[in-house]
Amino acid sequence: MNILTIKKITKILKNSEKVVAFTGAGISTESGVPDFRSPNGLWEKYDPALFTIHKLKSKPKETWEKLLQIEKEIVNKEIKPNLGHMALVELEKMNILEGIITQNVDGLHRKAGNSSEKVIELHGNMRELECLNCKNRISQPDELSEVPPRCDKCGSIMKPAAVLFGEQLPKEALLRAQHLTENSDFFLVIGSSLSVQPAASFPQKAIQYGVKLGIINRDETPLDTKADVIIRGKAGQIPPEIVKSLRK
Ligand code: NAD
Ligand code: ZN
Repeated sequence: MNILTIKKITKILKNSEKVVAFTGAGISTESGVPDFRSPNGLWEKYDPALFTIHKLKSKPKETWEKLLQIEKEIVNKEIKPNLGHMALVELEKMNILEGIITQNVDGLHRKAGNSSEKVIELHGNMRELECLNCKNRISQPDELSEVPPRCDKCGSIMKPAAVLFGEQLPKEALLRAQHLTENSDFFLVIGSSLSVQPAASFPQKAIQYGVKLGIINRDETPLDTKADVIIRGKAGQIPPEIVKSLRK
């Protein structure tokens, strides 16, 4: 079953010129980063209501203490890219990957070696801090000298450069993702439940634009019935098999 679908994806990739990968938390679970919605996912341990921009502004110390806990699960020195991330690096080297639109804030695509300009982080990242007032950005130190961290330019509270609930997605990332989606000829989802909006609107748009859609995910997604090819499997296993098959 998988062999046939891998052959099918390989054929589509060989006939495509502008491939876009769309990734979610599922590509990073094999690196040890829990996703949100699976059993043992982060929402079983944390209440999403704690991570709103409103909470950060009204209760900065309390919210930052929770943020530091969740950050440790998503970004730390022990967490390394896995074979799924590496397969996307291979696709870039083969010159068939136009870009990666990711919902992840773990920075693992860049850490794996994909070029920064190819990676669009729709939900920002957890490696940097951004000032709530003057938007000054710095890389987040391993240990914060104060909680909440304060901007060295204007003294205001800083937030993680990741998008919190109640915030808009970064405009530039949305525009770039829109451009990539419109101009792609194959849109390949890897490891996403496709249930978080507006991120999940991009594969929906791809369908509207007549772009071929592939989905590699462990569980079902709402777009399965519309996809040209679906593989139910591991993000750390299927993409490397596809790369191998492309080389044959
Ligand atoms: P999600 O938690 O809604 O869904 C994850 C999907 O990945 C599930 O459908 C699951 O079946 C699948 N999956 C899990 N492990 C897999 C594996 N090894 N191989 C293949 N599939 C696997 O995640 P989402 O769709 O990315 O959206 C939720 C939000 O999660 C996003 O806003 C994102 O910012 C955030 N998030 C990011 C990280 C991260 O940066 N690594 C971690 C947790 C949550
Ligand atoms: Zn500032």
